[in-house]
Amino acid sequence: MFNRRWFLTLLSSSPFLANFRPLFGRLNNRDYFAELGVRPIINAAGTSTALSGSLMRPEAIHAWEYATRKFVNLDQLHDAVGSRIASLVGSEAALVSAGAASALTLGTAACITGSNEEFIKRIPDTSGMRDEVIIQKSHRFSYDHAVRNCGVRMVEVETVDELVAAAGSRTAMMLFLNLADEKGQIQVAEFAGLGKRLGIPTFIDCAADVTPADNLNKFIRMGFDLVTFSGGKAMRGPQSTGLLLGRQDLIAAARLNGLPHANTIGRGMKVNKEEMLAMLVAVETYLQLDHEKDWKEWERQVETIAKRVGKISGVQAERFVPPIANRSPQLHIGWDRSRVGIHRDQVIEQLRDGDPAIEARPWEKAELEILVWTLQPGEAKIVGRRIAEILKAAV
Ligand SMILES: *Cc1c(COP(=O)(O)O)cnc(C)c1O
Repeated sequence: MFNRRWFLTLLSSSPFLANFRPLFGRLNNRDYFAELGVRPIINAAGTSTALSGSLMRPEAIHAWEYATRKFVNLDQLHDAVGSRIASLVGSEAALVSAGAASALTLGTAACITGSNEEFIKRIPDTSGMRDEVIIQKSHRFSYDHAVRNCGVRMVEVETVDELVAAAGSRTAMMLFLNLADEKGQIQVAEFAGLGKRLGIPTFIDCAADVTPADNLNKFIRMGFDLVTFSGGKAMRGPQSTGLLLGRQDLIAAARLNGLPHANTIGRGMKVNKEEMLAMLVAVETYLQLDHEKDWKEWERQVETIAKRVGKISGVQAERFVPPIANRSPQLHIGWDRSRVGIHRDQVIEQLRDGDPAIEARPWEKAELEILVWTLQPGEAKIVGRRIAEILKAAV
């Protein structure tokens, strides 16, 4: 009975579907950004929140779209997604947060409150609770506001002796910024070990530290109790997601400090079924990728831009790979101001105001930094051409 002809007859006769067909036809033709007068950007500046992060992988978009069509019990989905991600990356437990910054808040809250309901309701008023976070002075960073949100005092130390002396009955957590590893006197593995020795939970911020994919597991193996990564950077999940990985009891306490529980510090950091499912699929996909192939493609893009720009006399284009954070082939472009008479900031401005609009980052005092992993096919050529045009005009 339910054959193809029957189906086609239904399609053509159903007033319900007939109403929708022209709607979807119209929707496909809508250019929302153009309607709003918002110009899309060629992003040569990397996965910056201000530039809307990364573009979701097609697999993640598919999962997102799937999730829009059905209601589920959010806690049940959170459990299932968390345990699937945990087993994929090799962690005791995991949760999808509203970005790494949100994971910093939820993880800190977990270390302060545990599963104590009264404490959970009361923070950021931390009276009577462990309310100190130990951090190396050189690891203070703008995102530690997400930790301070919980009502803790940051206790700065520089040496191992200072750290051991600072640890006590008020210490809730020890915080490490992976990006700052080389700046501090206590290195990453030693820091994790000190936490174990002192019986204090350790938390490491690795927000921008995949690639390599192995990092998803590395710091757990090293002994950190909590680890966070951004979901919307190299993994290309939804921009409004992050991962909090680590110890079962702490992840459970982090969950208690967030949605769907209304009276919590994390309630405003909403993560719905779409974000959870799309992030899971982004992690799955990311782990299956041919990372070498991606790397080679980034190298080709760097070379395309370097060749074009490096031909101009007085201009140097140098490939480099940062050791930690946004680890990928990048390009530093500098020039001799006596031969190319334009300030770096003017180049950035002209790139931004041009057509198409291009975003690049300042580097050190005078140079330009180009990140290629957010470029779409064909865009490296355009970026190279535009930078060359601007610099040549200043020769
Ligand atoms: C990007 C970043 C964050 C914030 O991550 P979101 O996922 O945007 O919340 C935190 N810490 C560091 C080191 C970062 O690079």
